[in-house]
Amino acid sequence: MMDSSKGKVVLIGAGPGDIGLLTLNGKDWLQKADVVLYDHLVNPDMIRFTQKLTEIIYVGKKEGIASMEQEQINNLLITKAREGKIVVRLKGGDPFIFGRGGEEIQAAQAAGIAFIIVPGVTSVTGVAAYAGIPLTHRNLSSTLSIITGSNEKEKGDIHIDWEKISARSGTLVFLMGARKLPLIAEKLMRFGKSPDTPIAVVQWGTTARQKTWVGTLSSIVEISSKDKISPPALTIIGEVVNLKPIIEWYEHLPLFGKTIVVTRKGDQAESMINRLRELGAEPFFFPVIETIAPDDWCLLDNALNNLSKYQGIIFTSVNGVRFFSERLKSIEQDIRELKGLQVFAIGPKTAQAIRDLGVSVDVIPEKFVAESLIESMKNIKGQRFLLPRANIAREILPIQLRKMGAIVDVVPAYQTVLPDTQVDELHKRLEAGSIDIITFTSSSTVKNFLELTGEKFLPSIKNIKIACIGPVTEKTAREAGLNVEIIPEQYTVSSLLDAIESFFQAAS
Ligand code: SAH
Repeated sequence: MMDSSKGKVVLIGAGPGDIGLLTLNGKDWLQKADVVLYDHLVNPDMIRFTQKLTEIIYVGKKEGIASMEQEQINNLLITKAREGKIVVRLKGGDPFIFGRGGEEIQAAQAAGIAFIIVPGVTSVTGVAAYAGIPLTHRNLSSTLSIITGSNEKEKGDIHIDWEKISARSGTLVFLMGARKLPLIAEKLMRFGKSPDTPIAVVQWGTTARQKTWVGTLSSIVEISSKDKISPPALTIIGEVVNLKPIIEWYEHLPLFGKTIVVTRKGDQAESMINRLRELGAEPFFFPVIETIAPDDWCLLDNALNNLSKYQGIIFTSVNGVRFFSERLKSIEQDIRELKGLQVFAIGPKTAQAIRDLGVSVDVIPEKFVAESLIESMKNIKGQRFLLPRANIAREILPIQLRKMGAIVDVVPAYQTVLPDTQVDELHKRLEAGSIDIITFTSSSTVKNFLELTGEKFLPSIKNIKIACIGPVTEKTAREAGLNVEIIPEQYTVSSLLDAIESFFQAAS
């Protein structure tokens, strides 16, 4: 039973889109949440910071179309908090800038529910920064007005004092103004702003979909007319817009605008995701593999208790090393038992995981595949090798080594299973054709990805460019009919990312 006195509402600003703009506090609370209610403008990728059992509720309020009424949301927050739960309310940007955060907290307060507020990077500053527009500048603008371009009560005109706003000298920022752009430009000019005043409209700022239109109050409607700007878009008006060509940076990153699917497992995905973000891409995290303990530890335990009978031990993955060492610890065996054994690692990451245990690695093959490892093993007749690995793995290594006269004990150290990853968002993006690359780092990532996405989506997946870590993964992907365009020189994740970067450089 939950302790009902522990219940609270945590109002979090998720930032404008880029996952990196979530605050550390925000991430901490997501990790602790029992329930998360999130909006349309929140990057859904943030949900991965929650625990497996966290209840996730989408209350997607699109501008104009409220899929859940505000009152219903308030009630849900209160009911869940009364059950003793930590209820995270995750909102786009900052919750107190046109976010109705005030109303939700007022409701919690009136109901006697404890609350915490975690501010976020508002789209006002976040989107402006990614567009390369400083909102204030010593020589150009010393005030900043944040204005709503929408007013739900008055559907037609916006209820603002155009005269006063037009008279202001500093920067004006309109939110929720995408569809009202002609009205905003016309009113400002009518009430005295120069038709030459620079204006920028930034749509989906800080994401792979960021797009900017730049002009003047008199030209912007014409400039943007063929594109029909839809929300979310931020409108920035003032002399500071002229600095954009000098300061813009995000749009110049090598992978800007590319959505890249990362299929590797949770904790190993993080470095890949970070590197992709650094290159300007929008990583889409879609884990397709989960590693869990083997059904039976018996074979591994037996091997661990008899390490001295082996001449060598071969690790083919970081997971193998991790499960091996954890099991060694839990049966109170000593890592020193490995003394005298030759240690083989299939690639640099696996080798690093072994070194992290304080064990040195004797052999890493030239190419990071089983075939290359086999080539490096000479005169092994009569020697005994331990191969702790996944329940399903390529058989080539034990088969070849046995052919060479060695004795190979293959013991399951872990097994891979399909995680219960949410597929809705991926399906949406596949349908919209907004994915540029899918990355696969093993044959099982290919198989699991196809199984999770389902037969129906195969045709659209076949149209997407695929990046594979090496030839074995490539073969699996090709056999499934996928369009493999990128394979790195070295079979590592870091090399894979280099290859993706060169691929787009060559294409541009
Ligand atoms: N609380 C939010 C604003 C919510 S109102 C914040 O602080 O940013 C929704 C409006 O925010 C959108 O209509 C748009 O004007 C702006 N907005 C939010 N995210 C945006 C983005 N990624 N790019 C451009 N504008 C954005």
